[in-house]
Amino acid sequence: MTFRELSEYFHRIEQTTSRLEMAEILRSLLEKASVEEVDKVVYLTLGELLPAFRGIEFGISEKLLMESLSKACGVRLSQVQTLYKQKGDLGDTAEELIGWQGRNLSLVRVYEELFDIARTRGTLDKVMKLINLLKGLSGFEAKYAVRIIIGRLRLGVGDATIIDAMAGGIRELKPYIERAYNLCSDLGLVAKRLKEGGLEAIKEFKIQLGYPIRMALAERVSSAQEIIQRLGRCGVEAKYDGFRLQVHKDSDKVEIYSRNLERMTEMFPDVVKAVMEDVKVQKVIIEGEALAVNEETGEFYPFQITIQRKRKYSIEEYARDYPLKLFAFDLLYLEEEDYTVKPYIERRKTLEELLSQTNTLRPSEMFITQEAKDIETFFEDVITRGLEGIMAKRLDAPYTAGSRNFNWIKLKRSYRGSLADTVDVVVVGYYYGKGARARLGIGGLLVAVYEPSTDTFKTVSKVGSGFTESEWVRLREMLDVIKLSHKHPRVDSLIEVDVWVEPRYVITVNADEITRSPLHTAGRTLEEPGYALRFPRAVSFIREDKNPEDANTVEEIIRLYQLQKSVSVE
Ligand code: ATP
Repeated sequence: MTFRELSEYFHRIEQTTSRLEMAEILRSLLEKASVEEVDKVVYLTLGELLPAFRGIEFGISEKLLMESLSKACGVRLSQVQTLYKQKGDLGDTAEELIGWQGRNLSLVRVYEELFDIARTRGTLDKVMKLINLLKGLSGFEAKYAVRIIIGRLRLGVGDATIIDAMAGGIRELKPYIERAYNLCSDLGLVAKRLKEGGLEAIKEFKIQLGYPIRMALAERVSSAQEIIQRLGRCGVEAKYDGFRLQVHKDSDKVEIYSRNLERMTEMFPDVVKAVMEDVKVQKVIIEGEALAVNEETGEFYPFQITIQRKRKYSIEEYARDYPLKLFAFDLLYLEEEDYTVKPYIERRKTLEELLSQTNTLRPSEMFITQEAKDIETFFEDVITRGLEGIMAKRLDAPYTAGSRNFNWIKLKRSYRGSLADTVDVVVVGYYYGKGARARLGIGGLLVAVYEPSTDTFKTVSKVGSGFTESEWVRLREMLDVIKLSHKHPRVDSLIEVDVWVEPRYVITVNADEITRSPLHTAGRTLEEPGYALRFPRAVSFIREDKNPEDANTVEEIIRLYQLQKSVSVE
């Protein structure tokens, strides 16, 4: 396959407003790709070179890209800048500036050159290589190469969309593909295996150290009674409000991944050290929640302190001032054995044996009960100690990678308010705003929740409050980068907006209640109206730890709606 052909596919995906057509284009693209090409096609379609957990970045700023374009095309930098201002997109700018036909390079060749640019350290070398690549591409091809380089391909193709395309309509195949993906988080790898070895290879897919397992997630309820009703005798753990980490140890190598499956190893030198020194096995994958603890008082610091490590001064210094503890709550792999398939109680027992009670690593607090009363007492106790709530776990359940279900149930402090929980929503468009807001050019957002069965985003609310003025300005800047000329094919909306955007950013909102509404598409059927959030307000800026598909689902909104009804009856 040539890079031109791939670009043509991208162009078609960009043009379509139909989710079905988008799936069909992707399906034929994957079918056409060879074994050697298919992983690269998957990564590039997602706008990446490798999955995010490999941490590959181009390290090329807009400015550097404009300089390279100016050199490659022999035009003045100011000319490139003016054109960019007009077009608002560097890919379009490149397309307009490049007058040559290119060398019709193969997809693999362009991928390798892109990879080489990303890996090259010195800025000068990077620029030379980029210029060289641009000279080999036509304007049309350069448009997409440039967007990939600056991280703005904007096709809005999600993981689930690619999985559907891979299964190509064969029902039997999809669950196996999903499982393989859940075990390695690398869609390119899964696509390659599938092409190479077909269904058999996918069925035999195994956990591999250094490939994060997609995390199991919890459902929510509003009372201890409901936990017992659903789980019966169950494990109850303290719920820590920190940073979820998945730690992989492979002999003398340790890697750490975040909730969002990003590689975070360098951020946690203290955890790496403790795992190396205190976990006396060769190969293991452990999951836990890391948070800073005040050594003097034994109290937990608020989450804000823990995450400052990401932003603030040197990590070493931070590790000294605010040492972390990792409260391990699961064991997924041990000495070549897949533990995700074993029951929770068994995983937990081995986990406890594995962790000698060192200062940094320790098992999460846990006990087993079948009494709602015990859960309530423990809940009150953890809340007084400044924790978030509790997690209840089904004793015989496997670790369900990449899925949210009632094997794990969370009960949080904030549940006793009006809405049982905050809701994570995806921004799909914005309004210019009236009155005072018009000055900022943005006054409200249209937000949506995720519908996994169709891999689409269904609108659930407009959000106009909760952000400071400077946050609105920042939001607008970020949204303008991903704006679209039409509604994204994966967005289902009856409402118009001033600006549509790619469904990419997740925000957390609070609301007074959930109501039925004919205006929104979340939960809407032919006979029934949809669901909407009443008086929503943002409680966080953009959640960088969440992908759009991690937003709450339509089903969860319906459950929250039912929860709220049952609470108000009491
Ligand atoms: P989610 O991670 O489920 O999408 P969220 O980010 O909004 O949702 P919460 O709803 O607060 O987080 O709860 C789930 C998170 O709680 C887990 O992802 C994990 O990071 C954390 N957690 C804390 N203690 C535990 C524990 N003992 N067992 C499992 N998870 C725990």
